[in-house]
This record gives sequence, structure tokens and C-alpha cells, in this order.
Amino acid sequence: MIFQPSSTRAKIFSILTCLITVPNDSSINIYTDSQNFISTYNNLNNSCFSHRKLLKINNHHTWQAIFYLVKEKSLDISLHKVKAHDDDVLNNSADLLAKEGCALDPIFLNPRTSPNALMVLTFNLNGPLEKDLRKWSKNALECCNMLSTVNNTSNAYLFNKAKTHLIDWHNTSLWIKRNNDNTICSDLNDKITGFKIKSFNHTLPTSDLQQRNYPNLYPPGPINCTACNNLVINNEHIGFCPTHLTTLNNSLQKIKKTFILKLTEISDASGAMDIKAWVERSHIFSPVTNDDYPVYLILHQCVSSVLTSLVKMFIKNTKERLSTIIFFMKLFFKDITRPFWKLHYSLMHAWKKARNITRKKKIKYRRKNKTGNSINTADNPASQLRIP
Ligand SMILES: [Zn+2]
Repeated sequence: MIFQPSSTRAKIFSILTCLITVPNDSSINIYTDSQNFISTYNNLNNSCFSHRKLLKINNHHTWQAIFYLVKEKSLDISLHKVKAHDDDVLNNSADLLAKEGCALDPIFLNPRTSPNALMVLTFNLNGPLEKDLRKWSKNALECCNMLSTVNNTSNAYLFNKAKTHLIDWHNTSLWIKRNNDNTICSDLNDKITGFKIKSFNHTLPTSDLQQRNYPNLYPPGPINCTACNNLVINNEHIGFCPTHLTTLNNSLQKIKKTFILKLTEISDASGAMDIKAWVERSHIFSPVTNDDYPVYLILHQCVSSVLTSLVKMFIKNTKERLSTIIFFMKLFFKDITRPFWKLHYSLMHAWKKARNITRKKKIKYRRKNKTGNSINTADNPASQLRIP
């Protein structure tokens, strides 16, 4: 009970303790206000219920102990549902006893002694895990991934921006993981997802990273953007080069019009709302003068909380809301992220050609340095991204 506490667990435990105390061959009537307990008991009592399914049920060790006692003690159990908080004298006195029992030492169940125990997993020496392990592990792994993302130095610039422009992490994760071409498995899907991850992590192969990884091919010192010839070209600069801001703002206005039409078409909000006026006022579509705008996050594959709030105002249906957010992200990716990367790629290609930095030379360099330190993400041929 100390680890993974829940009200259902408390109820199951109270019934388990009753079954421990009753004599063998008893007929027992259990009056409970928990419909969940009654339904789960009836499900598990079905002989078709497999052991594999049982392991997906919360508190499965406790349930196994209950069924073990029922079988070993030849108990005949009848369950009755009573209304909660309805002045039922016996129910009230059971509640009172439960409250008094809070001061007692906790009860520990050792699932290792169960004859059905295949294995008993614990976490952090805190007690057995009594949940669907696949779901539990998924949550734990997502926390680990998030922690490593937060501590990744390449993400420092993005996280600094996220202090003022909040990120909707749930939808960001869905957007990055989303299938891009509706196929089960494809090279195109992998390429786009790879691009999204690199864009988010700021590890797209810009000159600064190439220079770090091919020190003998690239000239030393800062490599300036060939468009503005003033600022260093890196992941942060893409799309926010002063010479490209007009293009960015024009594309943003174009997206805005399409987005207003989409919202108007599928809005299910009650009452008349001026969608156009709300979208026009949104910070997402404010004219951009530097990278201190929510657009920076969107260009790096993050769903801005401003976008989520805006969509939430007009769409109440959760599924529709998600599909509208994805619609916007796709539009942004197609009309802004992709063209800006293509532009950067062509400018850098010309720059490299002028300095005779060829793909062949990079391959040769990699072969020569194979035994040295592993080459970073921006080195491998797959990272020479050409977005299809
Ligand atoms: Zn520039």
C-alpha cells in the first residue's frame, strides 16, 4: 500500500484480509460500494481469462492471492453492490474501521510465495510492481528520455527560449513521432522523422558542426552565413537570418489564411466566435523581427502552448483538436521549415563547391579517422539531409 497507493487497492486489500480470517468451506456475502471490484472479480473468475491478461490488470498480485484463498479454502463468494455514502449502517462501520486501521502497521504481501508467480519485478527496492509492466515501463522510459533531452547541451538554446514561450510537450512528442507518409515502414518516413529529431536537437549538419567534425576540410574560425555575411551560420540561424525575415513573415501570413479557413470549417465551439480576429491577435502570427517568438519553437518541431490554447478555444473534440494541431504543424513544416532548410542547403552547397569541399573528401576523411573518436550526428551520410 505504501508503494503505488490507490483507493481500489485499499478495497481489494480489505477484502483479502477478510478472506484470510474466514474459516474453510464458508459461504461469504461481500457488500461493497466498489463496482470496479465486482466487475474485475467476475472477469477474473472466468476460466477463459488468461494468465497473460491477468498480468495486465492493476494489483494482479493481490488478485492472485484472493483467488488462491478462494480455491484453497473452498470459499463460496457472493458479491453485492451497495450505494456509497448512503447511511448504510454496516458500510459506515466498515469505513470507521478502515479509518482506525490507518494507524496500524502496513500489510505486506510477498508475491514471491505465490505458486503462480513467474517473476516478481520491483522498482528501486520499493515493492513489487502490480501494474501492466509494458505501460509502466513506457512511462518510466519517457521520463528518462525527457531527462536526457533536458540535459543535452545541444538543446540549451531551445530550452532557454522555452522559459518565455511555453512548449506543449505532449503534442510535441506526438508530432515528432507521427507517421509522415501513412506507410508502415518507408525510407521517406525515416528521413523526415530523422530531420525532425535533428531540427529539434539543433544537430542539423550546419557549417559549425561540419567544421567540428571535419577540421581539416573546413577553414578555421567562425563561418559566416553567406546570405547576411554577418552572423555565424548554425542551427539557430536557419530561418532567422535578417535577410530572410521578410520571406518568413510572408510565409507566416500565407499559413495564417489557410489556418483560419481550417478552424472556421471544423470549429465546434458554441456561440459565435470571431475566429479570424482571435487568430490575427495570436502571438504565433506576430511579425517576426528576431528569434524571440513562438515561431522559433515551431520551426524546431515544438508545438507551442500558444497554438494549443488557440485551437482549444474553437475545437472541443479532443481528436479533432489534435488533428488540427498536426494540420498546422504539417503546413508550417511544408511552407516554412522545409523551404528554409533547402535554401540553407543550396547556399552552403555553393560555398562548399567554391572551397572544393566534396562528399568524396568527407568519406575519405571518415575512413581515415575510423579508429578515432566516433563521428557525430552531423557526419554520417544520412545526416546530409535532403528533405524529399
Ligand atoms: Zn544570415
